[in-house]
Amino acid sequence: MQNSDVIVIGSGIGGLCAAGLLAYYGNRVIVCESHVIPGGAAHSFKRRGFKFDSGPSFYCGLTDTQSLNPVKQVLDVLGESIQVIPYDPLGHYHFPEGTIAVYSDAERYRHEVQRITPQGARELQVFEERLLGLYEAMRAIPTLALRADWQVILILLKSYLPSLMKMLPYLPLLQSSAGHVMDATIKDLWVRRLIDLECFLLSGLKAHGTIAPEVAFMLGERSRAGVEYPVGGSGAIVQALVNGLERWGGKLRLGSHVEQILVESGKVVGVKLQQGEILQAPIVISNASIWDTYNHLLRPEDLPATYRQAALETPAVESFMHLHLGIRADGLESLTGHHVVVHDSSQDITLPGNTCMISIPTVWDATLAPEGHHVVHAYTLESYTGWERNQGYEEKKQQKAQSLYRALERIIPDIRERVVVELIGTPLTHAHYLCRYQGTYGPAIAVGKGMFPSTHTPIQGLYRVGDSTMPGIGVPAVAASGILCANTLVSFKEQVSTSFVNQGFRAN
Ligand SMILES: Cc1cc2nc3c(=O)[nH]c(=O)nc-3n(C[C@H](O)[C@H](O)[C@H](O)COP(=O)(O)OP(=O)(O)OC[C@H]3O[C@@H](n4cnc5c(N)ncnc54)[C@H](O)[C@@H]3O)c2cc1C
Repeated sequence: MQNSDVIVIGSGIGGLCAAGLLAYYGNRVIVCESHVIPGGAAHSFKRRGFKFDSGPSFYCGLTDTQSLNPVKQVLDVLGESIQVIPYDPLGHYHFPEGTIAVYSDAERYRHEVQRITPQGARELQVFEERLLGLYEAMRAIPTLALRADWQVILILLKSYLPSLMKMLPYLPLLQSSAGHVMDATIKDLWVRRLIDLECFLLSGLKAHGTIAPEVAFMLGERSRAGVEYPVGGSGAIVQALVNGLERWGGKLRLGSHVEQILVESGKVVGVKLQQGEILQAPIVISNASIWDTYNHLLRPEDLPATYRQAALETPAVESFMHLHLGIRADGLESLTGHHVVVHDSSQDITLPGNTCMISIPTVWDATLAPEGHHVVHAYTLESYTGWERNQGYEEKKQQKAQSLYRALERIIPDIRERVVVELIGTPLTHAHYLCRYQGTYGPAIAVGKGMFPSTHTPIQGLYRVGDSTMPGIGVPAVAASGILCANTLVSFKEQVSTSFVNQGFRAN
């Protein structure tokens, strides 16, 4: 007896996109989520009337029909949509030497840069134009048309030949780093640091580690489709994906931690839950990280030893310190929503505590906090190593939160007097709630040093999605991983009919 056709371990955005599409394609799908709230890194949670984003809050192209965002493509197929609030500037970067506003509109953004370095602004334009050319070429082939096996060639030749031709001049860029493009276009040191910062915010790595198409996607989406915040927070995107899954007959089981993926004679047969229950299915998709899947969910003997070892040696980006605050909002009428504070320009931007990200989404959606209040999420990289829930834990938490408070003081000088709710999260919190190896942001796979693995595994019937698979970290990327996996599991014919749905709306 099979309980379902497909079991998905984890309800991160990658898992939900794969699950929703596979349900849409007619499969019986069960998603088992360890947490009592779906969404993984993108879940929202409530405390004392405040609704917090646990992680992402920066989104582009969630509603624009011309957007390339794979989340939007999945929602369209599932028949779901979300409400958003567009905004610009998309944020402010605060350096010790001054602050710049970052506008979606490329010309306004360059104008800001020009105030600091006119030569740098001119060079930035050349850099952007090169990457925007790639973005335009990528637009012609929606992610929904792709899959992770050889049949992708049939689809591309059948439906996207002219688009492929458009892509040809950009082939060298597809595998190169944003740093490579930067080296060819930008000499100005200040702008080079700016690009390193933007890449770091995107991938956790600086420009030379970040793949050029990812940066092209970010620049293209923010300047063409625009930046927007989902009404109800990140959880609204998760809820729309869950609604889509259930609309097509799929099931989500919360509080269902998978203890083991069951493998017999090299084939997946199902999963065992922590409570002892066994669910059977011929296909299992793991949305857990590469380290968690191969180390904790499988027995060592289930995988070829060298493959397992190489996978487990994948380098990881650090974890985070989080500060979630509920604050009094009186006198903060001109507050804006996104900020990045670099404390010390002489230090590396990737150094834990040096670069702090801040999001105040109540600036756009006041319903996330009780009247007269704001929600604040500030976070910075923090190494997992050395954290233990011992006697000194609370003190260390307070001490490590100080760089986040100092960053917030640049935006709201009297922030400490305004706090009505304070939650400090450490790498241990991050690892615990998101079930993630060392609470990592994701794999640190730099361009030229390796590639994100595909959805396939050496075990028949076992697939992987999420930020430790192709194309990488970030909500659009993991949604793309879900699409690639789901499409690979259905026939070419089933997939093509869906791609046409998508192509139809893109054509207008
Ligand atoms: C602080 C922060 C800010 C970010 N900001 C942005 C942003 O602004 N924009 C953006 O695009 N991206 C952002 N990102 C990145 C983005 O949020 C992630 O890359 C993405 O959400 C990861 O999705 P995923 O599908 O890989 O799965 P995850 O979110 O990792 O979810 C995996 C799920 O699997 C579950 N799971 C794991 N193991 C088991 C098990 N054994 N049994 C059952 N369930 C299990 C987990 O509980 C989890 O719910 C941010 C990330 C962080 C941490």
